[in-house]
Amino acid sequence: MLMRKTRKPREYQNRRLDALAEPPEMGHELFVGLSSLRDTLSRRHHSRDFAFAHARYLRSRVLALGLVFSLLSPLWIVVDALVLPVELLKYTLVGRVALMLGLLAALLLAFSSGERIRRIRLSAGMLLALPAAFYLFVLVMLPERQVGSLVGYGFIPFLLVASLSVFPFTLLESLFAGILLMGLLGFSQTIDGSWLTGRGMEAFWLLSSLLSVSLAANHFQLSLLLRLYRQATHDPLTGLFNRGALEVHLTKIQAWQRETEGPGSVGSIPCSLLLLDLDHFKRINDNYGHSVGDTVLQQFAELLVGQTRRHDCVARYGGEEFVVLLVGSGQARAMEVAERIRFAVETFEFTDHEEQRIPITTSIGVTRLQQDESPSSALRRADEALYQAKRDGRNQVAAVEAMVDI
Ligand code: GH3
Ligand code: MG
Ligand code: MG
Repeated sequence: MLMRKTRKPREYQNRRLDALAEPPEMGHELFVGLSSLRDTLSRRHHSRDFAFAHARYLRSRVLALGLVFSLLSPLWIVVDALVLPVELLKYTLVGRVALMLGLLAALLLAFSSGERIRRIRLSAGMLLALPAAFYLFVLVMLPERQVGSLVGYGFIPFLLVASLSVFPFTLLESLFAGILLMGLLGFSQTIDGSWLTGRGMEAFWLLSSLLSVSLAANHFQLSLLLRLYRQATHDPLTGLFNRGALEVHLTKIQAWQRETEGPGSVGSIPCSLLLLDLDHFKRINDNYGHSVGDTVLQQFAELLVGQTRRHDCVARYGGEEFVVLLVGSGQARAMEVAERIRFAVETFEFTDHEEQRIPITTSIGVTRLQQDESPSSALRRADEALYQAKRDGRNQVAAVEAMVDI
């Protein structure tokens, strides 16, 4: 007894030491809580950029499920031929062929929709609405006394409610689809006579339970997507776009310019880039500490957002370097904005943790973003201009002209 008593704590201690020897794992927790309910309820609070990422993800789901549905449809014709009485086949066959064509059209629409959000949503809606419409068609067309012979159709509303969980739909979208599918179930019950019977109530109970599970799946799927998107595209300190997201955004802006202006043309929607670097920032860290340096970066980011319009873009390019994209501003206008920002920074009351003012200035390089160049070459020019501003004594704005300018 005594032996066991003395050995046990030692073993326990060893185990604790082993555990301590293992360093904690790196990485962010991907816990998704109820707090994100506001973001998953509707699309109202989603950014425009996330709307595109969301639509691309939705498109991949539409293609996958559309393919499964399209492959199952012809198989179903064979099953119909085996289980349904011959006189019913003519009703279901017409519907089946129409359904197959509709599913192929939805697949084609999703395939060709590229980045067009509305088309992608329409194809997702079609994927759910077509089988429901097919079921409704069969129910309406079939002579009343034959409905009892319809084998294997009653599960369509259940299949569709379960399918809602595959898509990253918002809760309101899924709820709307779920209510329509409950209506379809109710309608089928009035036809087959199970409405308000024990069997009918049981089916409703099952459909509501499935809908709750699908809504939970939608919530977790969408909030995980939002979180991954934010982590991949935003800087955690300032909440601004990070460098990678900025470069993707610049490419999209150039594509939009080409689409709006026509390829090769320059002028009607000029866009400019400002590259900003805080002057002698290392001294701030050295004199006040890194944490005050972080606070200054956050205050600087807020100031930049306050100085720009909604469709401009502000990003943290690196340590204490930021980029502002001015949409619709040529070089002359961009110089004015840069000068206004420079002055705003110089006069802004940056403060340390004791509310003491810290004098901060910034140097800014300005250049035009051309339609047909890589974002990195425009950023290189902005960097040259910034270097010029630093050489001129800091707290300055300098510009490097693009090759073709108007
Ligand atoms: P210059 O006027 O030539 O730009 O001088 P500088 O001191 O600003 O330039 P330098 O590039 O030598 O220093 C940049 C400093 O920014 C160094 C680095 O410690 C600091 N820094 C970079 N990222 C962060 C950050 O996230 N937080 C804090 N507090 N400091 C950062
Ligand atoms: Mg600096
Ligand atoms: Mg720097």
